[in-house]
Amino acid sequence: MARLFNFNPGPAMLPHSVLLRAQAEMLNFNQTAISPLEIGHRSSAFQNMLSSLQDKIKKIMNIPNNYSILFLPGGAQALFSIIPMNLGKKKSTADYFISGSWSELASKFAQRYIQINNNHIIEQHKLTNKNTWNYNKEAAYIYYCPNETINGVELIEFDNPYNVPVVADFTSSILMYKLDVEKFGIIFASAQKNLGISGISLVIIRNDLLDQAMEITPEIFNFKVQQENDSCKNTIPVYPVYIMDLMMDWIQENGGVEYFAKQSLIKSGMLYDYIDNSQFYVNGVDKSIRSRANIPFDIINNNLNDHFLTKAQEKGLLNLKGHKLAGGMRASLYNAMPVNGVEALILFMQQFARENT
Ligand code: PMP
Repeated sequence: MARLFNFNPGPAMLPHSVLLRAQAEMLNFNQTAISPLEIGHRSSAFQNMLSSLQDKIKKIMNIPNNYSILFLPGGAQALFSIIPMNLGKKKSTADYFISGSWSELASKFAQRYIQINNNHIIEQHKLTNKNTWNYNKEAAYIYYCPNETINGVELIEFDNPYNVPVVADFTSSILMYKLDVEKFGIIFASAQKNLGISGISLVIIRNDLLDQAMEITPEIFNFKVQQENDSCKNTIPVYPVYIMDLMMDWIQENGGVEYFAKQSLIKSGMLYDYIDNSQFYVNGVDKSIRSRANIPFDIINNNLNDHFLTKAQEKGLLNLKGHKLAGGMRASLYNAMPVNGVEALILFMQQFARENT
């Protein structure tokens, strides 16, 4: 069967070679003759893989030794609640910098556990004046989302004037550019985009933040408890961890984050250039904050959206419908999307524009 291009925002397209490897190893995890679907999480074969996966992530992301790597059940939305619980023992407020739907939801969830100081930092698809942003020196943490998957907004640089720990939701942009991990207190991401499949989150946490949990924090969501138990306090989602391991091998084989950073700029640049130069499509996000991972766009005559989506699907260009909160279309270009997928999309968009002008 011909391989299609899946532009879904998540669960997202996986590299073909990762799927083939998962298929080849389905009945034999690491020479055990046991499927990775049934391997015991406390078996030495699985534990060895878990610790080698941590080493791979450390190397790929250049993570200093004073950080821990956790794999937690539940996706990023679970962490929206778990993070304030884990950081709120000594300080009663947190600063939330809202740039789109996901940071907004995170702030709403966190309000149950900690007092929130919200800054709405994007208005009319533009960054507001940074001088008006209100930081609280005493905050337990600063929270922001470097890539807003629904809104197509990316914030690479983020000022932190008071050395408050920065917590960042990298769910849709992890491993798409190099990060200086030391600038963060916590980096977290759901796995189903650049890290594999759904069911687990990666949490990278500076060790001094491990003992700040409120009493109410559930055991399996307590970062310190999980760190002490190598993320196996309970049955870790085994298969998503296994797929993450395959993904890390694939990242390394391809030249690491440097390679994918270049690729992501090439792919998103091609699509933005085409949209900006067309009279038919539009992306309204200010150029300085456009996402390289998720590119929302509209047809100027939006009566044509459904027709566009049907025709795209016929060409094997799947899941281009925008999120219901944003409408229009959205192309998600994570690391597994090859350049020729984006070329095929642009060719189709050109043809559709010609036929419908
Ligand atoms: N944060 C961001 C930036 C996301 O893109 C998503 C999901 N698309 C989430 C959080 C929520 O993730 P989950 O569905 O895994 O809870």
